[in-house]
Amino acid sequence: MADSPTTTREAVLATAQRMLAHGLVEGTSGNISGRLPDGLVCVTPSSVAYDTMTLDDLVVVDLDGAVVEGTRSPTTEQDLHLATLRRYPELGAVIHSHAVYATMFALAHEPIPAVIEEVVVYLGGDVPCCEYKGTGTAALGDEVADRLADRGAALLANHGLVTCGASPDKALHNAALAERTAKIVWGARAMGATIHPLPDEVGTDMAGVYRYLRDNP
Ligand SMILES: [Zn+2]
Repeated sequence: MADSPTTTREAVLATAQRMLAHGLVEGTSGNISGRLPDGLVCVTPSSVAYDTMTLDDLVVVDLDGAVVEGTRSPTTEQDLHLATLRRYPELGAVIHSHAVYATMFALAHEPIPAVIEEVVVYLGGDVPCCEYKGTGTAALGDEVADRLADRGAALLANHGLVTCGASPDKALHNAALAERTAKIVWGARAMGATIHPLPDEVGTDMAGVYRYLRDNP
């Protein structure tokens, strides 16, 4: 977790702009949260373009979503961030993006399979798909928090991707990894290839590494 309110806010803003540069979102879609040292949460605002966003545009809310600081409205999708951060104190950041290849799996309501070792290490295993719930609802927040109990990423049915980590930087790494894996699996299937699973023991052992890294950031 970042060590001061300023560094956390700067990390949220820098990560938002990198998310745009990586092509994980377009325009004003997607959103990022970062837990501040005092337990409050810095979130990106609703309807502000990332390329012109400044630190003053960010909003600070409490874990129940009440605005504590800032003149903008917080992201309308803040429930999925706050439900996750309320439930898992070891996590420091959540990112929601509309990554294209991951969203293809989200349309199919199909997990992104953990067929590459680093997916198990950084994401904990297959990237599961949440049951469909309305965008911005508390029900979606609860569903996302359920899925992120032992995972660094989950798909939002018919919508996009959500990832978590100790910091905005790590949550972005997880978003890029989930998207890259979705693209690789999609490409392998397009080749007509048989996709072989990892050996069971690799999945089990590396899921233990994920748990350790998540609990000891
Ligand atoms: Zn969205």
